[in-house]
Amino acid sequence: MAKVLIVGTIGLDTIETPFGKKTDIIGGSAVHAAVAASFYVQPAIVGVAGTDFPSEHLEFLRSRGIDTSGIKILPGETFRWSGYYEYDMNQAHTRDTRLNLYATFNPEIPEALRDADYVFLANLDPDLQLKVLAQLKKPKFVAMDTMDFWIKNKRDVLHQVIKKVDLVLMNDGEARQFMETPNIPLAADRLLKLGAKSVIIKKGEHGALFFSNGSHFSAPSYPQDQLRDPTGAGDSFAGGFIGYLAKNDDLSEQAMRRAIIVGSVMASFNVEDFSLNRMKQLKQKEIVERFGAFRRFTEFETIAAW
Ligand code: AMP
Repeated sequence: MAKVLIVGTIGLDTIETPFGKKTDIIGGSAVHAAVAASFYVQPAIVGVAGTDFPSEHLEFLRSRGIDTSGIKILPGETFRWSGYYEYDMNQAHTRDTRLNLYATFNPEIPEALRDADYVFLANLDPDLQLKVLAQLKKPKFVAMDTMDFWIKNKRDVLHQVIKKVDLVLMNDGEARQFMETPNIPLAADRLLKLGAKSVIIKKGEHGALFFSNGSHFSAPSYPQDQLRDPTGAGDSFAGGFIGYLAKNDDLSEQAMRRAIIVGSVMASFNVEDFSLNRMKQLKQKEIVERFGAFRRFTEFETIAAW
């Protein structure tokens, strides 16, 4: 089985949506991504948490087959993010970001994980993303994500990360902000020109767009009527995407397209409830059924000239 490594935050989130408020629930970019990926492979997480991080969360990650040997538990406080969503649930509003142990975190990839084949650099300080890249032996595929917080604070370092990866994932608002254009295809083109080999622009409940030199794919949105908390949608997308690619160890265009739909399926489940509550209940059969629905909703025939 291909080895998958996910580096990002392990966090406790406080989230308010029109459907309720929850305090200190398990979250973090690496956690959401790894849980989604764990439906396909046995990913490893590298990150840090404090002694305040409930051990039941670590037990849950292990119960999903996730390798937690790269998670350091140190004296101090776990990363905390607090945010809210209004009726436009595509837009997260940050109330507070406390890096806590991530402010001084030095990501050391355990020797046994340095030869990972598929790597996801989830939303994290881009300086730390660079440190991770420097320790990898010869990955087949590296994807990265980021967010407005880092675009605002570490734009130049982000440029360096983008040059070194196979895939850049961003949501539409972030790509517009980062590439300073309202036009999404133009923003994607600018990311490719910066050196990214391919780009996925996530449009929340409106689907996702894939761009690379010479090809384009558009993933539909899923008519989701159970939306309760969008937190982690982007990371579940990425985790499902990379987990599926790694499971088949296939980087062909067709495999990428299927992986994008798998990512969309995982994100669509994650938003049905707060934190990982929906993912904790999710069954493989439901994934396959929803993948089929995505296919049905977008299948159409060609037209002849008239
Ligand atoms: P998303 O998939 O984009 O909704 O990511 C949600 C997760 O990202 C939350 O569970 C947060 O704990 C985490 N997060 C929020 N802000 C940051 C940040 N600045 N750096 C890394 N992770 C973050």
